[in-house]
Amino acid sequence: MTHKPRRQEQEAARAEISEIAPNVLRMELPIRMPGLGHVNMYALLDERGAAVVDPGLPTRESWQAIEQRLRQAGLRVRDVHTVVVTHSHPDHFGGANRFAREAGADVVAHRSFKFGVMEASDESDVSVDDLSVSEQDDAHRRVVERWNHRTPWGGQHPRPPFRMRWRWRLARMLGRSMIPQIRTAVVAGDVLRLAGREWFVAHTPGHTEDHICLHDPEGRLFLSGDHVLPTITPHISGLALAQDPLDAFFESLDQVAALPDVERVLPAHGHPFDDLASRAQAIKQHHYDRLDTVKRIGRKLGPATVRDFSRQLFKPRSWGEMAESETFAHLEHLRIQGAADTHRDDAGFLIYECG
Ligand SMILES: [Zn+2]
Ligand SMILES: [Zn+2]
Repeated sequence: MTHKPRRQEQEAARAEISEIAPNVLRMELPIRMPGLGHVNMYALLDERGAAVVDPGLPTRESWQAIEQRLRQAGLRVRDVHTVVVTHSHPDHFGGANRFAREAGADVVAHRSFKFGVMEASDESDVSVDDLSVSEQDDAHRRVVERWNHRTPWGGQHPRPPFRMRWRWRLARMLGRSMIPQIRTAVVAGDVLRLAGREWFVAHTPGHTEDHICLHDPEGRLFLSGDHVLPTITPHISGLALAQDPLDAFFESLDQVAALPDVERVLPAHGHPFDDLASRAQAIKQHHYDRLDTVKRIGRKLGPATVRDFSRQLFKPRSWGEMAESETFAHLEHLRIQGAADTHRDDAGFLIYECG
């Protein structure tokens, strides 16, 4: 009996590669993370070789899959001249440094990618001050410092979200060499020449601060990273630089939904799909529904902590820092909208009350 995954994002990586559009190949790389069975690495071919987008985890298994997939496409590692990383999660940047080392590849990410590096340095012996001062801003420092003390919503000494801890474990295992050195830092509106045509950078904070998508109006393609996925919604962290990370995410969804000239969306997990605007709207609706649920929980609980809310909002298997962080993002959104009040109790916990 074969076990069929519940969602396409959970499907195991297949060895076969597929041509999504002229000079654009989809290659599935193996990952095993909650709710995810593969990550898509896209290869954009041109006369110089190829650019790859999101080269998987920093593991040997992933690298072997990369080599095998490239071989199928008639490419060698040294043909890869550019690596684009959509955001600072390890299932997206894993192979970047190795391409830089073995192929001299340019590594491209958003200017704020540093944020991810800062987070990763937090638990190691490297202090924030050891990192390049020029690109540090106070906001980054505040986030790192916050994690050294307590969550903004109070309570016991916090442990960073699961993804962060997992990344640090990897960092310790593999050394800091896994964290990509960004050679080309981009911002919204920048243009990259890949697959023989122009791709526009869209900055889409929400899932992470540094998330970017790439738009090819000529080929009518949109590389969406984790910002817009076919059937699941990305984690939204309350521990972000933005005052209202959920609102930032909504804005980023509106931004991409309004783009003309998109016919095919190439997500980082799951299959390509074609209606970007309606998928972006559905993801917004999911969060509106969650906000309604939070308000309902608030009426039932009365004044309550973020943890109390999160334990009503999430199933027990999801309880923990990630659930609390996402709950915090929703509660803060309600507070900023005027739909919730807060105060701190004597123990320093942030208490929310929804009308
Ligand atoms: Zn991600
Ligand atoms: Zn991802």
